[in-house]
Amino acid sequence: MKLQKIINICGTIELLSGLHIGAGDVALEIGGLDQPIIKHPITGEPYIPGSSLKGKIRSLLELRYGRIGSNEGPCDCGKEDCLICKVFGVGASANKATSIGPTRLLVRDSFMTKKWKIDFKNGELPLEIKYENTINRITGTAEHPRPLERVPEGVKFKFDMSVRIFEEDDEDTILKFVKQGMALLELDALGGNGSRGCGHIKFEEIKVIKDNEEQEEKNLSSYLSLNLM
Ligand SMILES: [Zn+2]
Repeated sequence: MKLQKIINICGTIELLSGLHIGAGDVALEIGGLDQPIIKHPITGEPYIPGSSLKGKIRSLLELRYGRIGSNEGPCDCGKEDCLICKVFGVGASANKATSIGPTRLLVRDSFMTKKWKIDFKNGELPLEIKYENTINRITGTAEHPRPLERVPEGVKFKFDMSVRIFEEDDEDTILKFVKQGMALLELDALGGNGSRGCGHIKFEEIKVIKDNEEQEEKNLSSYLSLNLM
């Protein structure tokens, strides 16, 4: 297998609504938030882990193409013609020999753009606390408010991904697939509580750099009209 080229896709992600990417197993402080967001261990800045971005794009494409794996998990077929497995990698649970080679898509962590980093450092970017209530169906009153931490709407992050193209790969097909996944994500949501309005994002200033030539992508939604409708 010969690596032919690496294509870089980068740009910004703008939050159109508050973003909640949970920190997971963070020890609960007494009186602290029970739903904190993930933050950089040194700077304390919120960021978007590459795994969250990649995982969400993958799962949307799996749904779009009806390729859900065994036990409703990620596709783990490992088949030569499965773009999900080729582009995103064979599920760890697959444990089978496959000839599809290395994962084609690499997604790096997205950090805030310079302006927002400075604001955050100066304490001018307060993270938002949203209270989520459970509504008692009988009395109609709100109960058990749970504080949910979010990065507020309007904040911008820099995203950066690389697509590895091997000699026998169809470059256009793979690139189109990745862009289609990004377009689906704009229509869906990133992070938690998407069905309650969190995580609405937009990819902007998208640059696709191949063969050292920069190419601007104006509009992802054109991929949707071409490929989905
Ligand atoms: Zn597969």
